[in-house]
Amino acid sequence: MNCKYQLQWYDNIPIVSWLMLGGKCRKCRKKIGYAEILSEVFTGVAFALSYILWPGFEGLFKLDGFEIAKLVFFLINLVIFVILFVYDAKWKELPVNLMYGTWVIAALFLGVNIWQVIAAGGAVDVISIIGALMILPVFYYLMYRISDESWVGGGDWMLCVPLALMLGNFWLAMFAMFAANLLGCITMLPVALIKKNHKLKIPFGPFLILGFLVIFFLQTGLLRFIGFGIL
Ligand SMILES: [Zn+2]
Repeated sequence: MNCKYQLQWYDNIPIVSWLMLGGKCRKCRKKIGYAEILSEVFTGVAFALSYILWPGFEGLFKLDGFEIAKLVFFLINLVIFVILFVYDAKWKELPVNLMYGTWVIAALFLGVNIWQVIAAGGAVDVISIIGALMILPVFYYLMYRISDESWVGGGDWMLCVPLALMLGNFWLAMFAMFAANLLGCITMLPVALIKKNHKLKIPFGPFLILGFLVIFFLQTGLLRFIGFGIL
């Protein structure tokens, strides 16, 4: 952005290029910033964890088409989420079209999930799926509208749509919401106390994603624990 240097392919190798350049521009040596390397490391770790902790890991191992399709959709959305956060942090705005893209990908994920349940002779719990949408995006949308954007931002409810679709279960959506709020409190409370700023604006999106990931990977155990079976 500083010297209009046209990035080459070898400037865009995740993690490697940033380290080789020492976090500085090849031409003008201006600092690139940490958002790039952090998002690249996060994406790499998230990809590895997604494979290791995948709820249908056995299916992946047997090259089950349903599980592979779900993993692909899941990873595509993960990448888009990272792009959204970096974009939001840098330019203070949300590329809404990209956000709608995550809705489509998540709907495809849910479609495969439903197809998989039907193919296995199971019953699809439509009420639970609608419940997930009510507890996450609809609830956050209402908070956003009622509070005139002072409790939650406009991007939060939009981000909740793909999360609810990919969880596809009321209880998992509840847990994800709880986990997101807990993570947000633990992280931001000390910051708020130190800064003595009671009107601190907290970027909630990353916590929603982290809460979602924790619950998504724990879903088999959680659902068994509640005694609802596996969707
Ligand atoms: Zn430069």
